[in-house]
Amino acid sequence: MDQTSQQNGVSRSVQRLADALLLIDGEWRASAREEWLDILNPATEQTIGRVAKAGIEDLDAALKAAQYGFLTWRDVPARERAHILRNAAGLIRQRVEDLALVLTLEQGKPLAQAKAEILSCADIYEWSAEEATRAYGRLIPARQTGVVNMVVLEPVGPVAAFTPWNFPASQAARKIASALAAGCSMILKPPEDAPSAAIGIVKALTDAGLPSGVMNVVFGVPAEISSHLIASPVIRKVSFTGSVPVGKHLAGLAAEVMKPTTMELGGHSPVLVFDDVDPAASAKALAANKFRNAGQICISPTRFMLQDDIYEPFLDTFVDAARAVRLGDGNAETTDMGPLANARRLEAVSALIDDAVGRGAKVATGGRRHGNVGYFYEPTVLTDIPPEARILHEEPFGPVVLVSRFSDTDAAIEAANATPYGLAAYAYTRNAATVEKLTRRLEAGVVSINSGTLGLIETPFGGMKESGYGREGGSETLAPYLVTKFVAHATV
Ligand code: NAD
Repeated sequence: MDQTSQQNGVSRSVQRLADALLLIDGEWRASAREEWLDILNPATEQTIGRVAKAGIEDLDAALKAAQYGFLTWRDVPARERAHILRNAAGLIRQRVEDLALVLTLEQGKPLAQAKAEILSCADIYEWSAEEATRAYGRLIPARQTGVVNMVVLEPVGPVAAFTPWNFPASQAARKIASALAAGCSMILKPPEDAPSAAIGIVKALTDAGLPSGVMNVVFGVPAEISSHLIASPVIRKVSFTGSVPVGKHLAGLAAEVMKPTTMELGGHSPVLVFDDVDPAASAKALAANKFRNAGQICISPTRFMLQDDIYEPFLDTFVDAARAVRLGDGNAETTDMGPLANARRLEAVSALIDDAVGRGAKVATGGRRHGNVGYFYEPTVLTDIPPEARILHEEPFGPVVLVSRFSDTDAAIEAANATPYGLAAYAYTRNAATVEKLTRRLEAGVVSINSGTLGLIETPFGGMKESGYGREGGSETLAPYLVTKFVAHATV
């Protein structure tokens, strides 16, 4: 096997990646029992590497390190914490080519998207570095002379963070950067399916001088790791990005020991396209957005509601754009859309679409697996979907669009809000009164009108309803990792 791994990445000819190791107390190492899990390339289904599988003794070592790391890190001045984050951002930019390649090999997304994701991690580190120096407290006017009423924000303590495989680097970066900037230590469990890009962005921190024990990384059986870490008295905060069912489970575990949580969960984003916009232009913009990362994005536009007069022209253009998407290995320059990230997704997406079609939905394009090697699924557009189809109620998390039509704005908003999800919502209209109504009434944590851009690090990101709570990004980004302490000081 061609093994040309370098210290921080791989060359283009690599077919087997460097081992994905645990980071415990500053040391990158195998698990104590030397157990491993395979890593597959989703475009070829071939094993391309292995990831260390932590046992309880490794988790206990990580907890000890995170406790010690917190005691060190909380007393490091904010400007020095910011300095390390900024230097790590610089290292990420230097290493972008290698990191993007391992990300594509493990997760499947086209190389250009992988590069953009890695570069966004550098932006995220820098944003939190800036915010670290602005975690202000305040003084409250006292009732007596000689009393100082002081509010200080302190780091909450060691954090257990669990991040998913759809953006294995940037989802981890958001939690790491905010927690570290606030002065917390962390045990991170990135996804076992795609571990190496997250390892790369942590390595940038340790290479930039992060003290031992502040960041620890473990992999293994997710349910074993989360139950052990959340129950430990060392952990003071839980942060999760993933599906609603797993989020509810982890929030329950945290509630038993009264630990604060941040839950960035799934979505089922509505898209309202009104008849005052150019249907072809909005269809093209939405197609580019929809098929990014093969639709495996929690804010992916999914339930398309088209106003009567633009229904046909929008649908025609969108279907043409979906058919023009070039599927392939993310590592090939001609590829627009890679495979789904793992066999679970291929099975889940196929089952949801088969269920809808079985109940009478019409397939405007797609509706099938693409080829029989790799987890590829065709860009798919469904129309005339009966209300009882599962796909209208469960997050598809794949390259599929569900099209319906509307005539009345109020009824469309009601339909848009009629799921337990509340993450992202999109609308296309030029009417100011409609924009005002949508802004007020859409039940979503992030709303995009005539624009596809959501989730930049300078803007707050998070859900409503079952899509979760807590915010990442924006000036809100440190808040989940800080605790408010009030001090009344009477001079005697
Ligand atoms: P899943 O629900 O089994 O897992 C989702 C993520 O949670 C994975 O990264 C997994 O490793 C982790 N996980 C699972 N059980 C866990 C546990 N007990 N403790 C800690 N972590 C645990 O499903 P999946 O097949 O991996 O992903 C599919 C679903 O996940 C999608 O339908 C989507 O809803 C959701 N998802 C959401 C996001 C997001 O950004 N909000 C990202 C990825 C996946």
